[in-house]
Amino acid sequence: MQVHVQPLGERLDVAPGDNLLKALTDRQIPISYSCLSGRCGACRCRVISGDVQEAKGVEYRHHDDNADPARYVLACQSTLHGDCEIELPEMDEVVVHPAKILKATVLAIEPLTHDIRRLVLKPAKPLSFSPGQYATLQFTPAHIRPYSMAGLDADDTLEFHIRRVPGGAVTGYVDEQLKVGDAVRVSGPLGTSYLRTRHDGPMLCIAGGTGLAPVLSIVRGALARGMTNPMEIYVGARSPADVYGLAWLHELASQHDGIRLHVVTTTSTPGQADHAFRLGHVTDALAADYAAPDALAGWRAYLCGAPPMVDAATRLLRERGIDGARIYADAFYAKAA
Ligand SMILES: Cc1cc2nc3c(=O)[nH]c(=O)nc-3n(C[C@H](O)[C@H](O)[C@H](O)COP(=O)(O)OP(=O)(O)OC[C@H]3O[C@@H](n4cnc5c(N)ncnc54)[C@H](O)[C@@H]3O)c2cc1C
Repeated sequence: MQVHVQPLGERLDVAPGDNLLKALTDRQIPISYSCLSGRCGACRCRVISGDVQEAKGVEYRHHDDNADPARYVLACQSTLHGDCEIELPEMDEVVVHPAKILKATVLAIEPLTHDIRRLVLKPAKPLSFSPGQYATLQFTPAHIRPYSMAGLDADDTLEFHIRRVPGGAVTGYVDEQLKVGDAVRVSGPLGTSYLRTRHDGPMLCIAGGTGLAPVLSIVRGALARGMTNPMEIYVGARSPADVYGLAWLHELASQHDGIRLHVVTTTSTPGQADHAFRLGHVTDALAADYAAPDALAGWRAYLCGAPPMVDAATRLLRERGIDGARIYADAFYAKAA
């Protein structure tokens, strides 16, 4: 039996019960994917005809108002049961870096805040990735999680920002046991929330907590490529003590007049003015700054951080006129390792 893949026109030989995403990626078909657990929607394909069955209980909701959900499936959650024809999602700038598993060594572990560590790895070989992507880090066979790169693939090292989660297996290990010189296995790159370089309109970059890592990578990547798009950067944190990376952000802003930085914290420090920061949720700041229904028409947005923030911001941005296909997010789901 065959899968007919549009708009490429390719025909793939497959077997009954094959997973659709695996069938595509095994044959180097450029398809975006991310969480592999039916939540992020990156690998959503349109079924033009034939028998493609999506697993029951998929959490992703098809948001397009005009879409017939029955005709869309998430490739990562779908199996093939007969000849079919499918259409791939947005072919615009699908970036495929060959997935690799690399050995790396811990060069540095430095505190960025009371619970965020900057982890610097020296990979044995370079890892090619697009700004904004992430990799799976294996510290031991029992300690494996995805983390986003904060730098660029031209750097000699790989940089990650890791926030300790209370009771967290891997972040507890990183905080208490990982040390300089330890070996780490890096698999990747992964993720679809990477910098779109063909766009010259305004960009909105929204970082919640350690979502700043991929946002830094995106802004660094944009400047390295000479992009002069206006860039509005929103950094959200729980309290002023959780804000980090301002020196890096100011340094980037000094390179491009079009960068504007907004730091928003949900609480303020009692007795301190925190004049530089706005108070509230990052979505409150966005709603106030872009009040008109079409205020963000033509923009592209990169959202990085915890799923509730990413979901709330995505809803708001769509209400303000950003096309859903131009909102790029790899939310930090807890079970995506
Ligand atoms: C695409 C992607 C990119 C990511 N990039 C980063 C990154 O750059 N930096 C970073 O710090 N993390 C990032 N994460 C999250 C990271 O992969 C882990 O989920 C996180 O570090 C917790 O791992 P853990 O083993 O310590 O916690 P676990 O042992 O897996 O979880 C312990 C408990 O904490 C909850 N929990 C897990 N994560 C969170 C969270 N973030 N907030 C609140 N509760 C949580 C779990 O539901 C569970 O109840 C990313 C996740 C994804 C999917």
